[in-house]
Amino acid sequence: MNTQDYVKLEEQYGAHNYHPLDVVIERAEGVWVYDVEGRKYLDCLSAYSAVNQGHVHPRILNAMLEQAKKVTLTSRAFRNDQLPMLYKELSEFSGYEMSLPMNSGAEAVETAIKLARKWAYRVKGVPRHQAEIIMVEGNFHGRTTTIISFSTEPLYKEDFGPFTPGFKIIPYGDAAALEAAITPNTAAISIEPIQGEAGVIIPPAGYLKQISEICKKNNILFIVDEIQTGLCRTGKAFAFQHEDIRPDIVIVGKALSGGFYPVSAVLADKPILGLFTPGEHGSTFGGNPLAAAIARAAIAVLREEKLAERAESLGTYFIEQLAEIPSPHVREVRGKGLLIGVELKPEAGGARRFCEALQKRGILAKETHDHVIRFAPPLVIDRETIDWALPHIREVLNMQ
Ligand SMILES: *Cc1c(COP(=O)(O)O)cnc(C)c1O
Repeated sequence: MNTQDYVKLEEQYGAHNYHPLDVVIERAEGVWVYDVEGRKYLDCLSAYSAVNQGHVHPRILNAMLEQAKKVTLTSRAFRNDQLPMLYKELSEFSGYEMSLPMNSGAEAVETAIKLARKWAYRVKGVPRHQAEIIMVEGNFHGRTTTIISFSTEPLYKEDFGPFTPGFKIIPYGDAAALEAAITPNTAAISIEPIQGEAGVIIPPAGYLKQISEICKKNNILFIVDEIQTGLCRTGKAFAFQHEDIRPDIVIVGKALSGGFYPVSAVLADKPILGLFTPGEHGSTFGGNPLAAAIARAAIAVLREEKLAERAESLGTYFIEQLAEIPSPHVREVRGKGLLIGVELKPEAGGARRFCEALQKRGILAKETHDHVIRFAPPLVIDRETIDWALPHIREVLNMQ
């Protein structure tokens, strides 16, 4: 079977909810992926930052295989010997007292929403079922019915109402808008420190700090969605650390498993996360021993391979080099660590054709929001590989 055979099968039997590049990957290692034709590509998407540790990291692979031989699923009806260790190691890594494990990122976001609402009723004293959570324009928090209820992207929600009430939208990057939107019923504000899916949108310096202060002053919770920006991607363990703040609730997913398995979590201190009581929330697979063993190894790799420092220094270098490329099509190069967006001018004809041209040269990148090419390779990339990629990117950014 060749690439076209696989594409045909997929188009015939699979729902068409994605528009992937026509590259059929059959194996991967580190920053490289290989297709069914034997071609090799540099992965510049990292599965939307789920493989920060690099594809098929041997240490995480070993943890997965060893645990799979012992026990994979107990359900939370019983305890297992991996989850307590994950709790402790996640606490040491993040500085938060407790965590609650789920599977997908969207489930962890849903968990954080339920937690903020419970806090509003039980701690803040908001009248039951009146809590409001403030969201920002351009947000991406996942695809469940509640989460798309506060999306501002028509494509994500147009045909999927009716929507969950209790959310308010304000502009991103505008702290004064938060102050204006707060009411006595406000439970929380939730933001992404950098909006990945919206096109690598970086808010003005000082924004997170201002939001944090407004939250404290008004007794509302500050939730950050670090599913894409966290776990070393932007050059720190968490992107909120760039502004020296400590939000109340942190959501992680994606690279929490190094790409082996869906593992997500909500992190907070005891006065907040301790509010859940038995039976109020749960998941059959959340916190299972296989997931916990994988996440433990994934966190160990982030720490021991100093991937935050790597993302910081290599990201700075990659951004500088990209910004120096002369190109008639580029409007702006921006990023933090190894989360980088190259925004094209509207007249460039969209980012898709540039991504297809990059694919022909052995680089896999994905357009985000029509005009932005995202470069987010695994954090184990080295300078030599970036130097290999740059001339290819230069040629593509200068095509007709
Ligand atoms: C990917 C992502 C999610 C959703 O995670 P899933 O695992 O796809 O459900 C939520 N928030 C952000 C910021 C993300 O990048």
